[in-house]
Amino acid sequence: MSDFKKQWALKNMGNNEPIRVDQMSPVAGKAGADMNALKAWEITKGSRDVVIAVIDSGVDLTHPELKNNLWVNIAEKNGRSGVDDDGNGYVDDIHGYDFVGKDGSPLDENGHGTHCSGIIGAAHGQGKVAGMMESVSIMAVRFINDKGRGDLEGSIKAVSYAVENGAHILSNSWGSRGYSKILEDLIKRSNERGVVFVAAAGNYRFNDNDKNPLYPASYDSPNIITVSAYNARERHSAFSCFGKKSVHVAGPGTNIISTFIKTKKDPRYKVASGTSMATPYVSGMIGLFLSLYPEKLTPEEIKKRVIETAIPVEHLQDKNVAGGRVDAYKFLNF
Ligand code: CA
Repeated sequence: MSDFKKQWALKNMGNNEPIRVDQMSPVAGKAGADMNALKAWEITKGSRDVVIAVIDSGVDLTHPELKNNLWVNIAEKNGRSGVDDDGNGYVDDIHGYDFVGKDGSPLDENGHGTHCSGIIGAAHGQGKVAGMMESVSIMAVRFINDKGRGDLEGSIKAVSYAVENGAHILSNSWGSRGYSKILEDLIKRSNERGVVFVAAAGNYRFNDNDKNPLYPASYDSPNIITVSAYNARERHSAFSCFGKKSVHVAGPGTNIISTFIKTKKDPRYKVASGTSMATPYVSGMIGLFLSLYPEKLTPEEIKKRVIETAIPVEHLQDKNVAGGRVDAYKFLNF
């Protein structure tokens, strides 16, 4: 974990890289304003039994820090190439499915999905960064293309696939202003099957989601947990949407280092900001919980617990239902 010191989200020491002090922000960070990951990991570091679907631009399936934490469809892995061995309607879907390329190889051509995946489950003890979970099964479901664009039809197929194939948590770092009754009903049905749906609040600066809803974050389903972003100074991230009624809690979202696809500029690691980053932190935190208590709470009860165990923060008071930010140790300490 050579870059652990850059991961303020896991352990905020008040002076972590890559946060630079400038005139506008004379303080680098607030010690302790973090996921409280080290204490949480004394309780659990996760389990391969927990399946988290990253519904995004795909995943770098060969990334050294991710390859051992991918969901594996055993029947397909041991099956024949070109055959739908498990009869789920998808050919060769070993680690998930690609609804852009329409094949069983959800490789990431953008980087966004790989970044989110590392926040959930980058390997511990080797490589540069650590995910919230040392052990997890990440299902790669791709509907966003190399340019970072995806359409409604693709998102519906992606969510359906994840639910039908046994994901416990759906991590959704995407959204738009377009409402869809079909998608909303689909998410409601996933609630009945015990699926937790974590959604990014969105990055429209100054947008109050209570007044101007964004989807899927604002759909009316009891299993949706919508996440805004806060920064290392424990302030609401300037880019992040908010909503006292429709956004539930804040997670770390500014200057987040994680895994990335192999590019010249960012060879397999990158620092990025967004509610897209805050969302997988919450997904991973809930994943830790499910690795301890797989059947204990309904999605609605998990959501209630996420809100109730949040740390109240003055600067976040009006930004979300919890009036604060998540703390994994408090959340796990059942
Ligand atoms: Ca199949």
